[in-house]
Amino acid sequence: MIQISDLHKSYTMGSNSLHVLKGLNLEIDEGEFVSIMGSSGSGKSTLLNILGILDDYDQGTYHLGGKLIQGLNETRAALTRNEMIGFIFQSFNLISFKNAMENVALPLYYQKVSRKKRNLIALEYLDRLGLKEWAHHLPNEMSGGQKQRVAIARALISKPKIILADEPTGALDSTTSFEVMDILKEINDQGKTVIIVTHEHDIAAMTKKIIRLKDGVIEEVIKNGELQLFKDRIRTE
Ligand code: ADP
Ligand code: MG
Repeated sequence: MIQISDLHKSYTMGSNSLHVLKGLNLEIDEGEFVSIMGSSGSGKSTLLNILGILDDYDQGTYHLGGKLIQGLNETRAALTRNEMIGFIFQSFNLISFKNAMENVALPLYYQKVSRKKRNLIALEYLDRLGLKEWAHHLPNEMSGGQKQRVAIARALISKPKIILADEPTGALDSTTSFEVMDILKEINDQGKTVIIVTHEHDIAAMTKKIIRLKDGVIEEVIKNGELQLFKDRIRTE
C-alpha cells in the first residue's frame, strides 16, 4: 500500500536549511495498524504530511497504492487524497460555525454531493459513532472525545483506504484516549490501513506495529512485540 524509499525532506528558512528526513525507508501493507513514535521534532508530522500528500519531499520515492506520488499539482494531489486518505488531527480541526452533521458532510460537499444526500450520509456516520443526538450541535457544545468522534466520522465519510491520524489522542484524557483508540482499532478490523503518530507508549502499544523515528531515519520497527531488522538500521550499524 505504502512504499517509501530513501526519502529526504528539508525545510529551508532564509539561508538556513533543516534536514529532517534523511533517507528513510518504509513499507506499510494494506490493513496494517501502525504507530509512528519519536521525540518531539523528530519528523513524525513531516512524514505523516508526506504520506497524506499534504507536503512534498525532496528526494527518494513514495508509492501509494502502486502509484508514484511525486510533484503532483494541487488538483491531482487533492484528487488522490480524497480518494485514498482520511485525516484525523490532535486539535480535531472542526469548523466552529458548522454543526456536527455539516462538519462530517464536508468531504462530500467537495465531491459535489447534494446537500440533502450528504447530510443523510453524515447522519449515518454520526449514528455509527454514537453521536446521532449531537448532529445539530456545534463543536464548542461537545466534549473533546465527542469532537474527535465527529472528526473520525468526517475522515470515514469518503470511504478512504487509509486513515492518517496525527496525535489523535494528544488533547484527550486517558479514558477518552482509549475510547478513541478502540474506535480506530475497529476501523482497522474492518480492513482499513490506520497510521497514527503518538508519543504515548500505551497508545502505541494498542497498534500492531510500532515504527520509531530517530535522526531522520527509522531506528526500529516492532511488529507484534518482535523487533524487526530494518534496512535503515542495518545501514547505520
Ligand atoms: P514532530 O511531529 O516529530 O514533532 P515535525 O515533523 O513537526 O516533528 O518537525 C520536525 C522538524 O522540522 C522540527 O525541528 C520542526 O521545527 C521543523 N519544521 C516542521 N515544519 C516546518 C516548516 N513548515 N518550516 C520549517 N521547519 C519546520
Ligand atoms: Mg508533530
